[in-house]
Amino acid sequence: MTILRDEKTVRPVFRTAAYQVSRIIAHQIAQKISVQQMSIATPIAATTGITFASSPLLVPILRSGLAMLPAFLDIFPDAPVGIVGLKRDEKTAIAHWYYENVPHFDPKNQIVILDPMIATGGTGIETLTFLVQRGAQQKNIMYASIVSAPEGIELLRKEFPEINIICAVQDKGLTKDKFIIPGLGDFGDRFFGTEV
Ligand code: URA
Repeated sequence: MTILRDEKTVRPVFRTAAYQVSRIIAHQIAQKISVQQMSIATPIAATTGITFASSPLLVPILRSGLAMLPAFLDIFPDAPVGIVGLKRDEKTAIAHWYYENVPHFDPKNQIVILDPMIATGGTGIETLTFLVQRGAQQKNIMYASIVSAPEGIELLRKEFPEINIICAVQDKGLTKDKFIIPGLGDFGDRFFGTEV
């Protein structure tokens, strides 16, 4: 987290740190994914092992959510991926849809939303509303994030009390421009190299 926050961190190092933190979060989430027993044979004897009952549907929110995807695909190589494109207006901080391509899923499927920064929570609310309208059950949804503001967490918990939020750190609050304090600046700009 220190490397991610430090404004002096250069892009390749930022990307590596984003991968490493995402992988830790993916491991945490793997503990919450349903498993089933399976029979296997070692070279010595028959035994049982466990496997994921079904891979969760991963839903990265464009564009920053893509940064978390490689770590999650390493843990869930089989997972279907549904993309949602939401961009927050720099002035109003209101999220606008510009893309959606989410495969059909069963209401019983576990779903993991990937969104590194929970600021106001507006983007999350839009995504959750969409998924619940498509049949997702709140209790099956996990929200994976790296940095959050209390305001965003409070809103998500109020509107979707049954989802599970897994976030590496919760910061102090938001600036007037809705950036997280101390945060790490604009995650997408730093990851993708679009800083001005
Ligand atoms: N998104 C970011 O990338 N950074 C913030 O601080 C808030 C939202």
